[in-house]
Amino acid sequence: TGCLYLVGTPIGNLEDMSVRALRILKEVDIIAAEDTRNTKKLCNYFTIETPLISYHEHNIEVGGEKLLTLLQEGKTIALVSDAGLPCISDPGADIVEKAIALDFPVVPIPGPNAALSALIASGLTPQPFFFYGFLNRHKKERKQQLEQLKKRQETILLYEAPHRLKDTLKDMEAILGNRRIVLARELTKKFEEFLRGTLQEAIEWSQTEEIRGEFCIVLEGNMNVEEEPEETYWQDMSIVEHVEY
Ligand code: SAM
Repeated sequence: TGCLYLVGTPIGNLEDMSVRALRILKEVDIIAAEDTRNTKKLCNYFTIETPLISYHEHNIEVGGEKLLTLLQEGKTIALVSDAGLPCISDPGADIVEKAIALDFPVVPIPGPNAALSALIASGLTPQPFFFYGFLNRHKKERKQQLEQLKKRQETILLYEAPHRLKDTLKDMEAILGNRRIVLARELTKKFEEFLRGTLQEAIEWSQTEEIRGEFCIVLEGNMNVEEEPEETYWQDMSIVEHVEY
């Protein structure tokens, strides 16, 4: 009977592929991949011969229908993304929701994840944490998102593309103020590196260096959140009183 496996794959180092993930990728009827060319390389490396179909953000509708049909035909499917866990800043959430609605088992096969790997080695408070993923690529929206993040007391986890890092760090400092930050670069790869310091230091660093590689940002939460003044509460109550029913 149909079953959807969500399989974690390496974020750089192929040795991070789990024994169970390998077995599942070999046993399923089909592997649904974010980018079949990328996954083909992984399969070649591990001599996995399972057929691949594509499921990415630009074919979620058609691809999703196709996957559901396959599940209904009793096929087992492993969903993988280019790196790390499917659904985490990657395609998958949509098909998971639909598979659950149709009562198909959805089985996670845990594996590497960039944000959590960055968090545990960051040296910042690991919990509570708030995973945000990517900020918007447009400056105005990005600033609004940072405004929303400003008051959060949890450690904040973000993904960012190297060519946007410099601007993002500047916006962060302008909106959130100077805080501790850790940049985790090229996790699990040859040039893995952690840059630990303050936002101001990170900005300085980003100006001297050509920024290359993959980055996770781990940002300290707001350490000086003021208590909401009680007045606000009463003001809100008075608004409610004026509503006419
Ligand atoms: N699904 C993935 C996961 O579970 O971590 C995340 C996919 S998201 C599209 C890609 C982003 O994750 C990159 O832009 C980067 O911010 C981060 N990332 C992925 N691999 C990384 C690595 N090896 N080192 C640092 N960051 C990485």
